[in-house]
Amino acid sequence: MKAVKRIPLAGPVLNGNEREYVIDCIDTGWISANGKYVNEFERQFAEYCGVKHAISCANGTVALHLPLVAYGVQPDDEIIIPTFTYIATANAIKYCGAKPVLVDSEEDTWNIDPHKIEEKITEKTKGIIVVHLYGHPVDMKPVMDIAKKHNLFVIEDAAEAHGAECNGQVVGSIGDVGTFSFFGNKIISTGEGGMITTNDSELAGKMRLLRGQGMDPNRRYWFDVVGYNYRMTNLQAAVGLGQLENIAWHLEQRRRVSDLYIDQLSNYKELFTLQPEMDWARHSYWMVSVLLTDKVKLERDEIMQLLEDDGIETRPLFYPMHQMPPYYEEKTYPVADRVSSRGFNIPTNAMLTNEEINYICNRIVHHCNGYNA
Ligand SMILES: *Cc1c(COP(=O)(O)O)cnc(C)c1O
Repeated sequence: MKAVKRIPLAGPVLNGNEREYVIDCIDTGWISANGKYVNEFERQFAEYCGVKHAISCANGTVALHLPLVAYGVQPDDEIIIPTFTYIATANAIKYCGAKPVLVDSEEDTWNIDPHKIEEKITEKTKGIIVVHLYGHPVDMKPVMDIAKKHNLFVIEDAAEAHGAECNGQVVGSIGDVGTFSFFGNKIISTGEGGMITTNDSELAGKMRLLRGQGMDPNRRYWFDVVGYNYRMTNLQAAVGLGQLENIAWHLEQRRRVSDLYIDQLSNYKELFTLQPEMDWARHSYWMVSVLLTDKVKLERDEIMQLLEDDGIETRPLFYPMHQMPPYYEEKTYPVADRVSSRGFNIPTNAMLTNEEINYICNRIVHHCNGYNA
């Protein structure tokens, strides 16, 4: 059976004021890296996260690079990260010449295992970057305790987790710094774009400076440091503001979709499980993810191909950093290795209908039962 219409994994929904704001940019000529939408997007994002400062930037990768530079991370410094993340987390550290030190995932959330952080700390360790993977927040309390004890900074890579909460506190406001991405497939989007959140005013000032080539704010065309052009444009911020105004709706839709999946898929524990939502957590459901047990005869990639033939787009979970050439390690990280090789993301976007979700669930169960008629 070949399906005619393909159900996409993800995609932006631009159904608020995005169009009006973009047209305003064009009508007024404010299309570049200054303007009222940049200021307003930053102001409202800071308010949404409950922090003093939000600094917009070009994407979620440079949102990670800027705080590392502002903290003075040097070659040979070590930064602790989960091995199970998207490559940008590790790359931002590499841009500073520093070394990402990898930690395995915990069984429950698939996020960095707080119990395995301390054994990786050396005198070279400067900080920890945690990643709220697929929208499930990291259990921040033990991480913050370890960081305090060893005098380390904590960056929350919240690129996938806008609006997620840990014990009632929104992500991006718990660590010293939070970073976000607004790539096209993220929870809200600006096409390409990023944001940094912090309550540290001195650090915020440094990051603003570094974002704009390092120009002295009191002396035009004077540069004391080597900075970057990491700015967001007013056009992107216009889209972002329209998205942010509707973020509650976007999150509600994702929860609606996820609830339907949970309803229909959680009775097949012998075949697969879903990334859970812990009782202290509010998942933002960037991606609903299915983890196959070893009872399922087919390989993960075979199941994904069968779903593709059904017109259902899926995506493999990330490869752990230690498996890939730039960060290769001979050893295994058992939880990350298992989840990565047996898991995949299923369509998670605000526009999915009940019928589509029923169809997707039926096909997943069918293929995992091993009939491939
Ligand atoms: C998407 C993502 C990033 C990078 O964001 P870009 O905007 O694509 O540069 C960083 N970290 C994680 C965990 C991500 O998922």
